[in-house]
Amino acid sequence: MSTSPGLKYIKTIREFELTDKVVFLRLDLNVPIDGGKITDETRITASLPTIKYAVDRGAKLVLASHLGRPKTKDDIQFSLEPVAQRLSELLGMEVLLVEEPKSNAAKALLAGLKKNQIILLENLRFEPGETKNSDEFASILASYCQIYINDAFGASHRAHASIEALPRMMKEKGIGFLIEKEIQILDQLLENPARPYLAILGGSKVSDKIGVIEKLIDVVDTFIIGGAMAYTFLKARGVPVGKSLVEADKVAYAKEMMARIEARHKSLILPQDHIVTADFKSGRGELCTQQAIADNMMGVDIGPKSLGACEAAIRGAKTIFWNGPMGVFETEVFSKGTFGIAKAMAESKAPMRIVGGGDSAAAAEASGYASQMTHISTGGGASLEYLQGDKLPGLEILRNRRPSVEAKL
Ligand code: AMP
Repeated sequence: MSTSPGLKYIKTIREFELTDKVVFLRLDLNVPIDGGKITDETRITASLPTIKYAVDRGAKLVLASHLGRPKTKDDIQFSLEPVAQRLSELLGMEVLLVEEPKSNAAKALLAGLKKNQIILLENLRFEPGETKNSDEFASILASYCQIYINDAFGASHRAHASIEALPRMMKEKGIGFLIEKEIQILDQLLENPARPYLAILGGSKVSDKIGVIEKLIDVVDTFIIGGAMAYTFLKARGVPVGKSLVEADKVAYAKEMMARIEARHKSLILPQDHIVTADFKSGRGELCTQQAIADNMMGVDIGPKSLGACEAAIRGAKTIFWNGPMGVFETEVFSKGTFGIAKAMAESKAPMRIVGGGDSAAAAEASGYASQMTHISTGGGASLEYLQGDKLPGLEILRNRRPSVEAKL
């Protein structure tokens, strides 16, 4: 068993005898697909080590994943077909796509499965029972599998049938290499971070990040707050922010948070200058050299002076955790702050440079510096929930608790 606290009493795939066993491998193959083409295959490549390990040990593999949020089975743009094809190329194996995971097709294929073949179930969310955590759906899946392995970190915060109900029914269950790595890294951010520890938070809403701020306030040495979030904090300081996005009901929280950061003698870096626009759909921005923003303008990126302050903090840090873009990075003219953070992190000598999934993973990817990070989490929501101390249903169900032993400890 692993020593990382978050993995206590959870078996890893290494602890199972896999030869000739039917292994249900829940993966997160939820990749962006545009016109039938996969536009970012990070999640597929991140799943390969566990797949290859199981294949090498002679397991009969049933891979499963969700993709997007289909409303019905007819939403064929959510089919895993392109993923099956890409997996087949990457593995040099035949990937058999089973369109009806509830039918007998999987069982029939398993009976005659050849060494160079693996099964991939079609998008689990085509089946309404998946998101309802249906026992009925889970028991059908359980009926043809002997070992359950979860390696879908990005989906483990959801109590869905393939994440919770299915492993609840299985005796043999554990995690793959991706989840193991994700949790080990997130645990290091909480338990034993090298100092100075810098957390860079951005994105659209303070409300989404409150949990993680609360948790990190005791461990982090310096916070950088950028993105739209920053305007709620600036407003709380009494700085005019024009038409920038502000969560009016979180201004008091931001004020209190700043007082707590100060009381703990920690640092907070807020934008000192900005890129502003009168209309962000116009794609035109201008530099606002001061912290205060004119009434008719909205802040859409941090300015060069602010980026300079962020770069200096990044250079001095040993642990860096980044979640949330510094601006509307999807528009090129508003992307300099976000991409500047990615570049500074890539150039930093900090042993831990972690990008916390979701939009910041997409931004790191778009910046061209993704490969130079220590780790980019494959789960945005899951990594934030884990960091803020929430229990992930997909992990909890795999914990092989021994109550009598635990009670004595
Ligand atoms: P989140 O999902 O909370 O990480 O937010 C990511 C989104 O925040 C991205 O789509 C950005 O375009 C958006 N965002 C970042 N900065 C700003 C800003 N200053 N104003 C409006 N939206 C922003």
